[in-house]
Amino acid sequence: MKLYNTLSRSIEEFEPLDPPNVGLYACGPTVYDYTHIGHLRKYINDDLLVRTLAANRYKVRHVMNITDVGHLTSDADAGEDKLEKGAAKLGKSVLEVAKYFEDDFWKSLALVNVEKPDVTARATEHIDDQIALIETLIDKGYTYKTRQAIYFDISKFPNYTKLSRQKLSEKMAGARGDVVVDARKRNPADFALWFFTVDRFANHTLRWKSPFGEGFPGWHIECSAMSMKYLGLSFDIHTGGTDHIPVHHTNEIAQSEAATGAPFVKYWVHHAFLTVEDEKMAKSKGNFYRISELVEKGYNPLAFRYLTFQTHYRSEMNFTFESLAGAKLALNRLYERASYFKEVHKHADIEFERDFLDSLSQDLNTPRALSIMWGMLGSNLSDSVKASTLYKMDEVLGLKIKENAVLLHDIPESVMKLVHDREELRKQKQFTRADHLRSKLEKMGYILDDEKDRTRVLRKI
Ligand code: AMP
Ligand code: ZN
Repeated sequence: MKLYNTLSRSIEEFEPLDPPNVGLYACGPTVYDYTHIGHLRKYINDDLLVRTLAANRYKVRHVMNITDVGHLTSDADAGEDKLEKGAAKLGKSVLEVAKYFEDDFWKSLALVNVEKPDVTARATEHIDDQIALIETLIDKGYTYKTRQAIYFDISKFPNYTKLSRQKLSEKMAGARGDVVVDARKRNPADFALWFFTVDRFANHTLRWKSPFGEGFPGWHIECSAMSMKYLGLSFDIHTGGTDHIPVHHTNEIAQSEAATGAPFVKYWVHHAFLTVEDEKMAKSKGNFYRISELVEKGYNPLAFRYLTFQTHYRSEMNFTFESLAGAKLALNRLYERASYFKEVHKHADIEFERDFLDSLSQDLNTPRALSIMWGMLGSNLSDSVKASTLYKMDEVLGLKIKENAVLLHDIPESVMKLVHDREELRKQKQFTRADHLRSKLEKMGYILDDEKDRTRVLRKI
């Protein structure tokens, strides 16, 4: 298997530290707001990576953090804590807000069939681990203290920018805004390990006692402390969006390697962003879609999963409703094809199965994997072998093809009668009455897909 590693900027042969075990840490959400389809793109591709590793017979331990404290409105040290800000806006406690949006996160992941990680680690439940790591860094001389915070001194860590490959001078220019926040900070790119609850954080509600004073951890330290706790001092894969390369992951490497003296992560996997109609997602632009909103508009959430696979994870993905409609059509075709398979052969076709897995094993080439799947369906294999090959492929794709194939056959007579009545009404151009029947059917849990000469019925899942 091959994976692109941001550290070397090249596609490398994947060789885990302790085969067949693979330790994978995924940067999780900051739970101060709803999960949007940009986040989901990242977690769908993480899920695909985990399933591809499993298909290659690796035993994956997948750890994810939930950030519920310490992530400021700037990824560096400026601004307010996102959780405290969100809680104040909603008039709730931080932990209530965190729980509410964490629930929304898991519900959103379930809709697009992303499996839960083996370990979920909340920052507020690992304060002792973070304090212990900070103490190690203090003992080893990598830190200094001001009235406001304990900082990691990046001048003590050689090759600080090895992941981002930024020049340190660029990095300092980028971080200069922070100097204003704490005039005692020595180098603008130094970053906080622990904030004291004084001055701008005097009203911070979440706070813990520590050997160095009362306060709360900075954002970066949680990922180092929790990943090493569950995966060891050195582990195989760390994922995140490309936005995390210059600050968050750069800081994770510095503080982890300074503390342990060992290489932190072998392969850094970074996901490209999703844009909506060619624009960055933003609440103010009204293009901040949640998956439940796509469901309300009549899309099967798995159509979004399918759409995600049409773009390679390292290319920017531009979401449009037109492309989602295309993905929905393709997915329904897939369900329909599968619904005609009467029996499933014991074995998948070896060649198609191998080509499919090979393309995913080449740095997750999902567009190619999809085209191999369609090629297989169009080949002259017998239907029963096509069925077993398709279901084998779907163990990795996670499009729930088998479940939906059965549903297509499983539409009760009474429902089919309404569908035919509606088709009649459409023929007579009685569209209002036809639409009325459509919404009645949708309320009953059935989705109608009108094609040129007929209507297909799917049951909502
Ligand atoms: P956050 O909750 O903002 O820390 O984001 C959680 C994860 O989702 C991070 O790895 C981000 O890089 C990623 N992410 C956030 N927005 C997008 C987006 N529009 N497209 C793809 N990934 C995103
Ligand atoms: Zn992280």
